[in-house]
Amino acid sequence: MRLIKISKEHKFYAFSSKIKPVAYAHPDDIVVFEVNDCFDGQVPFEEGEIPPINIDKTRVNPATGPLWIEGAKPGTTLIVRILDIEVPKLGLIRKWIIPIRNGFVKFANMNIPVRPVIGVIGVAPRKGTISNKYPGDHGGNLDSPDITVGSTVFLPVWTDGGLLGIGDVHAVQGDGEISGQGLEVPASVTVKISLSSKQLLPKVVVETSNYISILASAPTLDDACKDVIENAVRLLQSIKNMSRDEALALLSITSDLRISQIVNPLKTVRLCIPKYVIGSLIEHIKA
Ligand code: CA
Ligand code: CA
Repeated sequence: MRLIKISKEHKFYAFSSKIKPVAYAHPDDIVVFEVNDCFDGQVPFEEGEIPPINIDKTRVNPATGPLWIEGAKPGTTLIVRILDIEVPKLGLIRKWIIPIRNGFVKFANMNIPVRPVIGVIGVAPRKGTISNKYPGDHGGNLDSPDITVGSTVFLPVWTDGGLLGIGDVHAVQGDGEISGQGLEVPASVTVKISLSSKQLLPKVVVETSNYISILASAPTLDDACKDVIENAVRLLQSIKNMSRDEALALLSITSDLRISQIVNPLKTVRLCIPKYVIGSLIEHIKA
């Protein structure tokens, strides 16, 4: 096990197999990604209302990386366990820079508990280049509140080395991300990397302490829901050896369909399957 640090100068705005890796890791390495805020430092972080600023929109959602993972190749799964997300003392949402003190966000005379979310996490896609504004089956701009400290993210690998990137951290965010922003912050994200030779699903999957969530993104919520349900049925069929009807019934009475975000060019939903139904994915994928 080694400790690798990637500084925030190493950043990119679109996931692609053509970007040269800036660091190399082996399974079991711990990697610290120093992450820029979603506006790439263009907005000065000073408490209060933000003065009018012309944002260069080509510099939105920078991801730190990419990280090459030794042994990652198409058909394998990159397993990213989120060990820690350190956030600074100020965050940005809409026209405000807001203080963060002792684990709480101070806004509207309230103390809102910090619960950091990684907005952008992904690998190089199967083909072409995908802007960090988009979510997809490579990851990207998923904005899913499950992607937090203690969770494990399973990313299907599409190209050699995987090429992991992380960015767009929110100090806190609700489901839907309804205004288009979380509490945007630069951050320091510590992850543990591992790899499985198997691929259970061609989708991004997140394991929390309580459930497994399968993510899907599409132009409409309806299409994203259909996609995620189809994939959840397939996963249950393969893990539990049940019929399609049985899997659909089991999901219907146990699992929660949730909206991750409705504000990106594709919308993201997730189906959360309790662990008492499906067990730990880490166990299944290593078996
Ligand atoms: Ca985002
Ligand atoms: Ca964001």
